[in-house]
Amino acid sequence: MRFPLALTVKIARHIVKHKLRKTPKFAMVLQLEPLHTCNLTCTGCGRIREYSTSLKDMVPLEQCLAAAQDCDAPMVSICGGEPLIYPKIEELVVGLREQKRIIYICTNAMFMRKKMREYLAAVFSPELEPKLQQLITEKLVTEKEADTIRTADAAAKAKVVIKPSKWMYWNVHVDGLEFTHDLIVEREGVFKECVAAIKMAKILGYQTATNTTVYKETDVQEIEDMFKFLSSLDVDGHTISPGYDYDAAKKDMVKRLGRDPKEFFLTRDMTRQKFAKIEEWGQMFTIFGTPVYQEFLAGKRELTCTAWAIPTYNVKGWKAPCYLMTDGHYPTYGEMLGTVKWEKYGVVDGVARDSRCEHCMVHCGYDPSGALSNKPRDTWINMKYNFGSKPKPYAASAELEKRAFNGASIGNGHLAEAKAAINPAAGARGAFSNTKTEAKPHTHAAEDSCGTGDTSQRDDLLTKIAASKTTNPKPE
Ligand code: SF4
Ligand code: SF4
Repeated sequence: MRFPLALTVKIARHIVKHKLRKTPKFAMVLQLEPLHTCNLTCTGCGRIREYSTSLKDMVPLEQCLAAAQDCDAPMVSICGGEPLIYPKIEELVVGLREQKRIIYICTNAMFMRKKMREYLAAVFSPELEPKLQQLITEKLVTEKEADTIRTADAAAKAKVVIKPSKWMYWNVHVDGLEFTHDLIVEREGVFKECVAAIKMAKILGYQTATNTTVYKETDVQEIEDMFKFLSSLDVDGHTISPGYDYDAAKKDMVKRLGRDPKEFFLTRDMTRQKFAKIEEWGQMFTIFGTPVYQEFLAGKRELTCTAWAIPTYNVKGWKAPCYLMTDGHYPTYGEMLGTVKWEKYGVVDGVARDSRCEHCMVHCGYDPSGALSNKPRDTWINMKYNFGSKPKPYAASAELEKRAFNGASIGNGHLAEAKAAINPAAGARGAFSNTKTEAKPHTHAAEDSCGTGDTSQRDDLLTKIAASKTTNPKPE
C-alpha cells in the first residue's frame, strides 16, 4: 500500500461519516501553530511579519489540544515557527495521540536529533545497544552522546519524549538540494542536518516525510533529483505545493500599468508548467496529495478551493479564510465556518471570486478538494492511488549523493562563498535581503511551517543562484 492502511482507513471513515451526515464543511487537517518563533531566518518567510506582535506568545498546551478537539480533524500538522522550540511539544504530541489523531511535526530538522536522543535516553536498555552502535558508526550520534544515553539519570528516564509511532511523521522542510536549500534557509549545514535527522529517524523506526514549496524560479530538474535522493533515504512520503504570494502593490502594477503578471507571480499557467510531471512523480515517489489534486496541478482540470478543510489555529485563534490570507481570526472553528463568506473566495471554473485568489493552487486550499470530490471517478482514482503499491525507494548511489550534496560538501566552504558568488559587489553579508544588517526587515511565512510568504524574495534568491551556477560552475 502507498500509505499505511490504518491511516487511510481513519481518514476514509472521517470523510464517509461526514458525507453520510451531509456535513457541508468539516476539517480534514488542522494546521496548528503553537508559536511563531523560529531558530532559522529563512529568506522570504512571512510568519513573523504577519504575527510580529505575538512572536513571544505561545498557545498554551490545553488550548492546542482543545483546538484539535474543536475542529476534530483526523490529522494535525504541528507547524509554526519551529514547533520543536515549543516547550510542551512532547506533551502536545502525546495529547494529540490520546485523541487518536495522525500527527505531522513540520520541522526544519535542526532539533530533531536532539529530540530523538532524548527518546533513546528515556527508553534505553541493553537491547538497544546495536541500534546505538549503528548510529555511532553512521556518525549520527557521537560517542559522548551515546554515553549520555546509556547513563541517563532518573529525570531523563522520566521525561516525556516523542516516540516512534505509525501515527506520527517527522515532516522535514526541504526546498531543494544542499546548495539551494542552505541558501534559502541562510545557514550552511542545514541540508546536511536534515539528511542526518532523516537517517537517524529511519534507523529508530520513525516515519518521515518532507515538504517542499515550488517557487517561480525553482529548477524542476533539481526537485526531481531531490525526490530521487530523499526516496533513496527511504523517506515515507512527500508533500509538494506551489508557493503563492499575493501582493496588492504588484497586482496594482499589473492592472494599472499593464505589466505582465508573470513578472511578479507564479501564475496558474506557470504552476502548471512546473507541475507538468507531477503525475509521473506520483508514480515514482510516494507523493502525499490526491491524484485529483495532481491532475489540477498539471492543468488537466479545475477544482474549487476548500480552505475550510485545512484550518489554521494560532495565538490569535482560527485564521480565516486560509493559511495564506488573513481576513480575520475567530474564537471557535464553528464560528469561523458560520461567519466567513466562503463563497467569496477561491477560483471557480478559472474565474477568481477574490482577486487575491487568482493564481493560488496551493495544497492547503485545493488538496482537500481532491479528497472530498463527490465524483465516482475521482473517488475511484483516489482509492486506487492510496491502496496502490508503494513506489520502491530510488536506488542509492554515490553519483546521486554527489548531486545532492552540491553545496557545503563540495569542499569550497559554502555559504559565505556562495553569497559572495551570488552578489560579489555586496559581499557575503549583503547577498541576502533579510539579514539583520539591512534595512529590509526579516520576514516569515509558511506552508506546512516553511513555505509560501513573500515568494518574490525566494524567487529573487533562486534567480541569483541560477545565474551564479551558470557563471561559476561548481568544481567536480
Ligand atoms: S484560493 Fe488560495 S488564497 Fe484563496 S482562499 Fe483558497 S487557499 Fe486561500
Ligand atoms: S521558513 Fe520555517 S524554518 Fe524558515 S524561518 Fe520560517 S518557520 Fe523558520
